Amino acid sequence: MTRPTIKDRLDTDSAVADGTGREAEPFWRAKTLEQMDAEEWESLCDGCGRCCLVKLQDEDTEAIAYTDIGCKLLDDVGCRCRDYPNRQAQVPDCVRLTPQTVRAIDWLPPSCAYRLVEEGRDLYWWHHLVSGDRDTVHAAGVSVRGRVEAMEDDLPLEDYIEHMVRWPLRLPRGAMRRPADPARGRRTAAPPTVAARGTARR
Ligand code: SF4
Ligand code: SF4
Repeated sequence: MTRPTIKDRLDTDSAVADGTGREAEPFWRAKTLEQMDAEEWESLCDGCGRCCLVKLQDEDTEAIAYTDIGCKLLDDVGCRCRDYPNRQAQVPDCVRLTPQTVRAIDWLPPSCAYRLVEEGRDLYWWHHLVSGDRDTVHAAGVSVRGRVEAMEDDLPLEDYIEHMVRWPLRLPRGAMRRPADPARGRRTAAPPTVAARGTARR
């Protein structure tokens, strides 16, 4: 027997019969960030790892720029935190995402599911809750897999500025297009200081 996926379970949990045999909207369309329970909240993270790239902040303007340097706990292949439960003990400036911080910070990538929901937009085809596959975030070129050029402990701070990149704040082409294979997806939504990091727990 096939085990249910996270998506199956959440779809089932959030589906409410409306009297016509149709299912209600999935939770990320039906609920605000505040209304999500802990499991829904955690599942909303697409696993892209973009927010775990080191960011630089201009001391004068406070503008934030991404780098292609990974946080010391980032698994640059799996694109996940290698010690998620204890991350803030190891990385004190790791920002814990909450509905309030999602609204307050302006550096979350445009692909970030928390940002999309907060902006009233749908998830993209490659999000695992839509595709049913945790690999589609990598296949679509949205994750940081293959794009992390260094880890923070391997570089002196003065070299970080050479690693400034713009791509984490852009959507790759593959993120916008529906895949040719319909089974892959169903819906498309339409000397510096080291600055904040992101993570997806509240
Ligand atoms: S919190 Fe957002 S940007 Fe960070 S890994 Fe999750 S979906 Fe990606
Ligand atoms: S969740 Fe925080 S500690 Fe973990 S890799 Fe991302 S930024 Fe680093």
